Amino acid sequence: MDEIVIISGKGGTGKTSLTASLAFLARSALLADCDVDAPNLALLLAPEVLERASFTGGRKASIRSRDCTACGRCLEECRFDAVRNPEPGRYAIDGGACEGCGVCVRFCPAEAIDFEPEVSGEWMISSTRCGSMVHARLHPGGENSGKLVSLVRQKARQLAEAEGSHLVLVDGPPGVGCPVIASVTGASRVLVVTEPTVAGVHDMERVLQLARHFTIPASVCVNKWDINPEMSERIEAAAAKTGADVVGHLRYDPGVTAMQMEGRAPVEAATPIAEDIRRLWARLEVAE
Ligand code: SF4
Ligand code: SF4
Repeated sequence: MDEIVIISGKGGTGKTSLTASLAFLARSALLADCDVDAPNLALLLAPEVLERASFTGGRKASIRSRDCTACGRCLEECRFDAVRNPEPGRYAIDGGACEGCGVCVRFCPAEAIDFEPEVSGEWMISSTRCGSMVHARLHPGGENSGKLVSLVRQKARQLAEAEGSHLVLVDGPPGVGCPVIASVTGASRVLVVTEPTVAGVHDMERVLQLARHFTIPASVCVNKWDINPEMSERIEAAAAKTGADVVGHLRYDPGVTAMQMEGRAPVEAATPIAEDIRRLWARLEVAE
């Protein structure tokens, strides 16, 4: 089974529109939206949710005041300054600051600290006009987005197997942090979407380094290449240096925004950019 992860060094490069377009062009791909902090693929594919479940990302500590002997050990041991001592003899934990490490629970001599799993998001299996999709949403401030990303990928692969699909298309998170690492580890290939700006080159280099570190084959797509052809050439050269190939140049198409507002992928109309995306898809040579 092939798993292609579409990523970019930062948000707003057209990654999700491209993923939706590839989903439309693929005949039987299973889709996964791993941008769990800002899952936008659903905005373009209007999923009908078939199954929904809570995601428990970690644990939070809380003190049972009736059992607390006010020894102050938890305040001493917490490296995250999450334990408060608002008045003499009273201790409490700031849930927002608690990192769920469990140290206070271990050291509390009175066993007065509860350590309950915390629901920090949800994941869903949906049906879309391009096939089945696994997606998720982390609650604001929710912990463990990397764990949720891994869960989405795992569910997507399971569903692909069950449906007999040989391709999983993943809309990855932006950046190069933990959620991105969780979205690319073990993937067959990453497709990096970038734009011809100085920041675009820099961001692309960072994600290509990441892909190289994990020995994942990488391809590059330059979105809006024609707004700065010179910079696009620089991108091509920088990509080649890392062993990545440029599989697509997408022109600037002002019609894309209007299609996004209508909840449609760029290839769903006879737009100029649709031809570029079809060429890119052919160059990816995906066996389905
Ligand atoms: S679980 Fe860890 S972070 Fe949370 S209050 Fe206890 S020691 Fe601090
Ligand atoms: S370590 Fe336990 S008993 Fe001591 S102050 Fe903290 S919660 Fe209370």
